[in-house]
Amino acid sequence: MREEETPAGTGHVVVIGAGIAGLAAAHRLLERGARVTVLEASGRIGGKLLPGEIAGVRVDLGAESMLARRPEAVGLAREAGLAGHLQPPATATASLWTRGALRPMPKGHVMGVPGTAAALSGVLSEEGLARIERDAALPRTEIGDDVAVGAYVAERLGREVVDRLVEPLLGGVYAGDAYRISMRSAVPQLFEAARAHASLTEAVRALQGRTATAPPSGPVFMGIRGGIGTLPLAVARSVRARGGAVVTDAPVTEVRRTAPTGWRVVAGERVLRADAVVLAVPAPAAARLLRAEAPAAAAGLAAVEYASMALVTLAYRRTDAQALPEGSGFLVPPVDGRTIKASTFASRKWGWIAEEDPDLVVLRTSVGRYGETEILGRDDEDLVAVSRHDLKEATGLDAEPVAARVTRWTDGLPQYPVGHHARVARVREHVAALPGLAVCGAAYDGVGIPACIASAYAAVDQIHGDLRAVQQLTAHPVQSLHGGAGE
Ligand SMILES: Cc1cc2nc3c(=O)[nH]c(=O)nc-3n(C[C@H](O)[C@H](O)[C@H](O)COP(=O)(O)OP(=O)(O)OC[C@H]3O[C@@H](n4cnc5c(N)ncnc54)[C@H](O)[C@@H]3O)c2cc1C
Repeated sequence: MREEETPAGTGHVVVIGAGIAGLAAAHRLLERGARVTVLEASGRIGGKLLPGEIAGVRVDLGAESMLARRPEAVGLAREAGLAGHLQPPATATASLWTRGALRPMPKGHVMGVPGTAAALSGVLSEEGLARIERDAALPRTEIGDDVAVGAYVAERLGREVVDRLVEPLLGGVYAGDAYRISMRSAVPQLFEAARAHASLTEAVRALQGRTATAPPSGPVFMGIRGGIGTLPLAVARSVRARGGAVVTDAPVTEVRRTAPTGWRVVAGERVLRADAVVLAVPAPAAARLLRAEAPAAAAGLAAVEYASMALVTLAYRRTDAQALPEGSGFLVPPVDGRTIKASTFASRKWGWIAEEDPDLVVLRTSVGRYGETEILGRDDEDLVAVSRHDLKEATGLDAEPVAARVTRWTDGLPQYPVGHHARVARVREHVAALPGLAVCGAAYDGVGIPACIASAYAAVDQIHGDLRAVQQLTAHPVQSLHGGAGE
């Protein structure tokens, strides 16, 4: 083994994992004056953000859009030099493929939960709409510390709202099951509003009223010319330009504390000394690495479940794709019994993809949800065939694609079941007990890109104080050990 020349006490931080969370942490740490080494297990950086290509057109093969109503992702893109590449979607019109037709996605709801029954007319049956009206007269539903989104909404407004709207919208983010997903973690604003109001539709109207008096400006989502997958590449370039190291093919197998302070990180032949460690890896990997030093945190993380999915990207000649309707794509409620769960018309949604080759139309479908294993066991050809079958049923598109590619995301999305926030709080408590250790990424405070970046910044804030203490200890070892070097 090779012990690297990274003496402890110099503010050296090892970040494990070069997904967007790890890279955001590295970026912020360098701003704060730390020395940073990012170790990535695989041969490429970016994790779930993956730029690719089909029929000569650049596309995203992983995440493709970022919420712009929160500042973190757009802010990081700007800091990494991508300000001129930010691009909002060309269309915000989406559909639901339900009850045998493509229907305009209703407006006036919070994650599928409407403020009035009328908001969902056209999507729900007459009985479904009538059931929503009963909410106002029902006694309060106790939700305690947390509740499954599906169970609560079904009790207040009926199952049809959950099955036709909440489920596909939540499924689009978590690939999960609305009847398991935590309302507190997945839709916190709705959880708070629901605690304050007896009626759920009233709670939604209160939320909508707040937005109406202070309407947020700018697009809700943002893309990046060339793909969201270029974001981690740009952040890594910026990290390297500031003197940080980003090392690929470096799977970390061991993280141990050293005396009196600091950490020892083993990645194959490399052994690094660090003053602090940021673990920015998925929960199962974090559990393995924490087993020795933080067994209780490791146990909490080992219990986090993941959903797998696959994306099927298809390219058609424009002349063959006339059947494709307007809009950015559609979601499919599981209750409708189709195989695909969504389709994004990438060339319609993103101007930059349309411009790459105006004679091509690129779209993608997604398959696989939490607990659905059969579909992902099928081979690529089969996944392309079922996607084409469903696309034909939904839109009439029956042409032969000029190219197709399947991208599998095994264990791609952590699940946030009821009680997730409490589990995360316990994990963080155990981790915080070890000075110079922090965790971040999709398993904690939200799976979306801005939430992952926010968790990275929180991890940096957490170890910042520990780092300063270590630096003082190194500068004035005797004083500091006796507590005499306070600022
Ligand atoms: C198919 C798909 C589509 C999505 N679409 C969107 C979207 O459009 N918008 C959005 O906001 N979010 C989207 N998400 C969610 C979002 O992309 C992810 O939650 C987020 O990118 C996760 O970032 P992360 O840094 O936490 O983890 P990851 O991206 O998983 O990165 C973790 C990194 O750690 C590395 N690693 C693991 N073990 C070790 C080890 N022992 N040593 C060193 N390195 C290790 C991994 O190789 C990986 O590179 C999507 C997710 C998926 C799967």
